[in-house]
Amino acid sequence: MTSVAESAHPTVHWHAEGDRIQCDVCPRYCRLKEGQEGHCFVRAAREGAIVLTTYGRSSGFCVDPVEKKPLNHFLPGTSVLSFGTAGCNLACRFCQNWDISKSREIDTLADQASPERIARAAADLDCRSVAFTYNDPVVFMEYAIDVATACRARGIRTVAVTAGYVSPRPREELFAAMDAANVDLKAFTEDFYAKTCGAHLQPVLETLEYLVKETKVWTEITTLLIPGLNDTDAEVDAMTRWIAEHLGPDVPLHFTAFHPDWKMRERPATPPSTLKRARAIAKKNGLRWVYTGNVYDPEGQSTTCAECGEILIERDGYEIGTWGLRAGGRCGACGARCPGTFEESPGSWGSRRLPVHLAAS
Ligand code: SF4
Repeated sequence: MTSVAESAHPTVHWHAEGDRIQCDVCPRYCRLKEGQEGHCFVRAAREGAIVLTTYGRSSGFCVDPVEKKPLNHFLPGTSVLSFGTAGCNLACRFCQNWDISKSREIDTLADQASPERIARAAADLDCRSVAFTYNDPVVFMEYAIDVATACRARGIRTVAVTAGYVSPRPREELFAAMDAANVDLKAFTEDFYAKTCGAHLQPVLETLEYLVKETKVWTEITTLLIPGLNDTDAEVDAMTRWIAEHLGPDVPLHFTAFHPDWKMRERPATPPSTLKRARAIAKKNGLRWVYTGNVYDPEGQSTTCAECGEILIERDGYEIGTWGLRAGGRCGACGARCPGTFEESPGSWGSRRLPVHLAAS
């Protein structure tokens, strides 16, 4: 990988606190002395202000199926140009992108790309959307917002894949630029968030309520079930009751399987039966669109009409089979509306994963 010199993009969500500067972007509220970096490594105190040190630089670009974000009710079957930068404001011991999210040296940032360059690449590659993923766009929000603005000018949508750990004002600003979000609800106990992620649960719940109740951002939720840590019936029951009560029955929920990774190699992979059990609990609690992920389970990945049970979107992995939706995202059999962003026919990207080097293209 090529090492790239630090940039210093100005930011606004901070204030001076005596001889320190407090970053107000996320609930960590890092209080930095001149020259120090925040917990995320990519926001730093420079010359009396907080700057973003990774603006315009990426850890790599890849065209993926949008279902991989995962989003099952947002332009199904289409491709999304995905990228991330470096750094993260959480410290999850099970992180699946730790080489990017915990890169202190930022030496994984090989590709330089202006917002306009990314929007043009997405158009050239025929991608319907651009996703901020691999690491959390909260920590590089100024870059993500500028990319989203350039994309909107070309009719390309944008997707934030995020832990939702963000303070109220930056949250408003970031999501005003987005069309869809997948929020990781990592567990439903404060204990898990504190011990396993170095964060807190409540701000994430507030982000979910904000997105669903106060914005037009299409929102889906993902929970990675980790054996012995967040997969009891009681926790899944409490979480899905909360979603039904606070967000309503129409927010799609994805239960995905854990695979041993980074600092958590001692845990076994999640058995498919755990995902099916969680899905059954969520449905019993009234959630209408509940999916399984990271396992082979065509039934748990297909979308069926909540009214008549007809298959609306058949999925085998990331491949779309039967398409039972008609105009306006309505069930072809009974006419009930399936919530989400749909076109008359699905995309045909399939399960391909295409790495892209913008600098050279
Ligand atoms: S965004 Fe980064 S620097 Fe700012 S409070 Fe969060 S972890 Fe700290």
